[in-house]
Amino acid sequence: MTSYRDLLSRVKAEISEVDSTGAEALAGNGTLFLDVRERDEWEEGHIPGAVHVPRGYLEQRIEQLAPDRDAPILLYCAGGSRSAFAAKTLQELGYRNVVNLAGGYTDWKRNGFETVLPRSLGPAQRTRYSRHLLIPEIAEAGQLKLLESRVLLIGAGGLGSPASLYLAAAGVGTLGIVDADIVDETNLQRQIVHSLDSLGEPKVDSAKRALEALNPDVEVKTYRERLTSENVDRILADGWDLIVDGADNFPTRYLVNDASVWHDIPVVHGSIYRFEGQVTVFKPHEGPCYRCLFPQPPPPELAPSCAEGGVLGVLPGIVGSIQANEAIKLALGIGESLVGRLLLFDALEESFTEVALRRDPACPVCGDEPTITEYVDYVEFCAGGVH
Ligand SMILES: [Zn+2]
Repeated sequence: MTSYRDLLSRVKAEISEVDSTGAEALAGNGTLFLDVRERDEWEEGHIPGAVHVPRGYLEQRIEQLAPDRDAPILLYCAGGSRSAFAAKTLQELGYRNVVNLAGGYTDWKRNGFETVLPRSLGPAQRTRYSRHLLIPEIAEAGQLKLLESRVLLIGAGGLGSPASLYLAAAGVGTLGIVDADIVDETNLQRQIVHSLDSLGEPKVDSAKRALEALNPDVEVKTYRERLTSENVDRILADGWDLIVDGADNFPTRYLVNDASVWHDIPVVHGSIYRFEGQVTVFKPHEGPCYRCLFPQPPPPELAPSCAEGGVLGVLPGIVGSIQANEAIKLALGIGESLVGRLLLFDALEESFTEVALRRDPACPVCGDEPTITEYVDYVEFCAGGVH
């Protein structure tokens, strides 16, 4: 009968080994470092640049990681035994250039060589985001990306409510909310982030409370102010990957547009009126901006707000959710975004229509020879005073 010790020494005689100094010399020279330990060991630190493949998955995954059987590979575990068996297996699979790190990660660390702590989800996060982790396009790497994403919402009203709730639920790690308003009874027909408890409270505070109660992973940064030419640069300086624009007025839309072009931040734009909604993504210089579409604001008498013209309560739920979907896709870098496409929704017909949009080379802000290069008086501009 063969004991474990006999088996290990036989395997060790049949493979090549290096010590940690030898391994250090291989690092960064095109050798694939494979860490075959278990997840909890990997999470406590590993060799920089190493790829984690638990021993049990090695045979299954190695061909994808190293299609070339001559590729140089270094295997390590904690002490050098499990990886010795792994090295033997790779040899049997035809890999000709495999070495085992004798002494393993323990020896590497003891010799003072560099280690890194991996970013990974904690146990509670694995549970919370389990339905994301099951999707190959998201998985752990995508979820970590979401947790590191920073999304600024303009408005905590009809569009900002569903957008912020879904972004928070999805684990977008930092949400900024700009809104100067107070929650009142007329809001509750559609602004689902607020409730009776928050009547009379600033919308940013009410939203922050609801979002943080939904997901404590999310940090909500509040700006209880109306976005203006004076404060926009300060707010954007806090560092946002993208903006979800749920503004209900034209001056703010033009301001958000100009600032986003100059700060090079994509905007997920949404607007609603009665039964009709619109969504698109303005990605500076990769597609049109808001001014490419609408060089001039409509005359004020033809641009009633929801407060003046009304809106179906569920409509912002649909449009704001599409905005959240676009924001998540942009944060993850997956799918086809609405850049260059205006999606129109008609709630009465229950129909979507798509219109192709093109960047206008003569656009005063994002065009080839911009004529507007600093903030203007947006209220006056939209009142018809500046043309
Ligand atoms: Zn433009």
